[in-house]
Amino acid sequence: MSADATPEAKPASRGGSVEKVLTILRMQGPCSQAVLARQTGLSKGTINNVVKKLLSESIVSLQQKNRKESLVILGVGLGYVATAEIHSEKIKATLFDFSSERRFDVSVALGFSTADSSSSPGVLVQALQRLCQEAGVDFKEVSCVSLAIQAPIDRATGSIVNWATSRLPAWKDIRLAEWFADQLGVPVIVDNDANLAALSEWTWGCGRGVEDFFYLFCSEGVGGAIILGGKIYRGGTGVAGEVGHMVLGDSGPVCFCGGRGCLHSLVSERAILAALDGSESPQDSLIGVIEAARHGDAACRRVLFEAGRSLGRAVANTARVIAPSVIAIGGTLSTADELLTDSLKSAPEILNVLSISSATKLHLAVVSDAVTLGCVAAALSHLTRGINAIPGWMRPVSSDEPIVIA
Ligand SMILES: [Zn+2]
Repeated sequence: MSADATPEAKPASRGGSVEKVLTILRMQGPCSQAVLARQTGLSKGTINNVVKKLLSESIVSLQQKNRKESLVILGVGLGYVATAEIHSEKIKATLFDFSSERRFDVSVALGFSTADSSSSPGVLVQALQRLCQEAGVDFKEVSCVSLAIQAPIDRATGSIVNWATSRLPAWKDIRLAEWFADQLGVPVIVDNDANLAALSEWTWGCGRGVEDFFYLFCSEGVGGAIILGGKIYRGGTGVAGEVGHMVLGDSGPVCFCGGRGCLHSLVSERAILAALDGSESPQDSLIGVIEAARHGDAACRRVLFEAGRSLGRAVANTARVIAPSVIAIGGTLSTADELLTDSLKSAPEILNVLSISSATKLHLAVVSDAVTLGCVAAALSHLTRGINAIPGWMRPVSSDEPIVIA
């Protein structure tokens, strides 16, 4: 992972040789010193010195490969990393203890639809402090706090962009990373949830090792993230990749952004539930729709089919512009599997793109708990650390193999 992927904060500074070695270890996993020398272009003597330095700082360990060689492995001495997903109605905060390999979670339900104090950012400060208290950890020992916001972040101000603040009104005009770092007294990084979900899939999932990657995150909302040349592409304003607001038709529903016919207004959880209004299969969650469709409910199958077609058009339009090597679909909607992907991959726009760009691979995302683990990936990058794979204690593993859908 490139240090440039770190959101809203400058990475800790290290020498060029050290950073080159760390980048190769993050991207390729355990390597011998000979491989590191070949991949970085550095001399074997320099590699040896870098590895000694990283060993002394407990950033890497060695594992005997054979009688002659050892593999250099990332992932020791990481301490504590705290993360939080901030949704419009709840906070999910997690503490990762890398020393004793334990994970602690706490969820706080909130009414973020109003701008009163019960929904202010201070509630997150309390939730994080409570999390550490319950885990028996002094907050000052946390290496980094990594926050995922369910809204785009303005690059210039570090605040939620104005048009999206209706979902988190009490967070309006707050320079989030600075404010939380002041309150918590530890380094804080902040990014949009789709960027972070993409980061986890790119670091440990089906995007691993590719330079150009596009990720579409479809759950309560619809977000996208673009990684170009090994870096998250943010654009001049910081809101690049907001594919949820790509207009697919001027006769669609009005979106909360003020547009009409946005992808979000067609395939977000609320949109899919609204599409079932008036049918005999009303549902109260996207997971419910998917379950009912699996049991043969025709109306639920229909709305998922139509969602797949809309996603197909949006993915194809994006792929034409950025020509990624890998496209991944993640989030709750992606768990519909073939109920979604049959229509997505047979959308005429997708067939057209894949016939022109046969090298582009389309996958369902494989990293579960993607936003929280993306927060960890961003924190490790900020700390110029990394781990080669997600161990079981950090997440529930659904599958290690990417599911190819086209
Ligand atoms: Zn919109």
